[in-house]
Amino acid sequence: MTLAQQRLQFILGLRSAGITNARVLSAMEATPRDAFLDGIFRERAYEDRPLPISCGQTISQPSVVALMTQELDVQPRHKVLEIGTGSGYQAAILSRLARRIYTVERHTGLAKAAQDLFRRLDLANVTVIPGDGSLGLPAQAPFDRILLTAAAEDPPATLLAQLKPGGVMILPVGQSDTVQNLIKVIKSDDGFEYTELGEVRFVPLLAGVAKDPGN
Ligand code: SAH
Repeated sequence: MTLAQQRLQFILGLRSAGITNARVLSAMEATPRDAFLDGIFRERAYEDRPLPISCGQTISQPSVVALMTQELDVQPRHKVLEIGTGSGYQAAILSRLARRIYTVERHTGLAKAAQDLFRRLDLANVTVIPGDGSLGLPAQAPFDRILLTAAAEDPPATLLAQLKPGGVMILPVGQSDTVQNLIKVIKSDDGFEYTELGEVRFVPLLAGVAKDPGN
């Protein structure tokens, strides 16, 4: 199969996995997943699997990225916070759906690589912040939408506080190495409403900044 055929199959696969939102499908179609992978993994970019990236991390499974994006219900005027930039793939998709994206990554090397890639892909509305995302991003808060792509043991109170009333946060919850649940939290005037979206597997949300060689 040629790359173009693989990309067509990829979008058809997302549709049959229940991704029906036209804006989400076109954002996924416009975002070349191979650009976010290195070396031999590029050839496997359009398989529906998580794949390794540098710093021992992973790019998420595309059907899970699509589901999270669809459930986040991002609108064109929204300001969105992502925790866990990783390869930058999820943030690149969000950048096509919202006005402004901030994404925080604890590995400085990954943060730099993602920011360079956004520049090359002309995605001017995404800013990568190297740092500990469990603290959120107080300087830019509050956010319309918050997405975590690393698993927390509980929805972090600091992040819930940085969500606007009516805002939505999606995150995997659970211990690493056990089954995690994808949770959708809606903030209302009188509290939070929680919905479980299904089982997932993400790397854990770790406190502090990573001590990478060369940082
Ligand atoms: N959204 C990514 C998937 C990244 S995997 C993509 O599309 O490729 C999760 C990422 O979360 C990893 O890169 C990991 O380093 C990062 N992470 C874990 N804990 C973090 C924290 N406290 N703050 C910021 N990033 C964190």
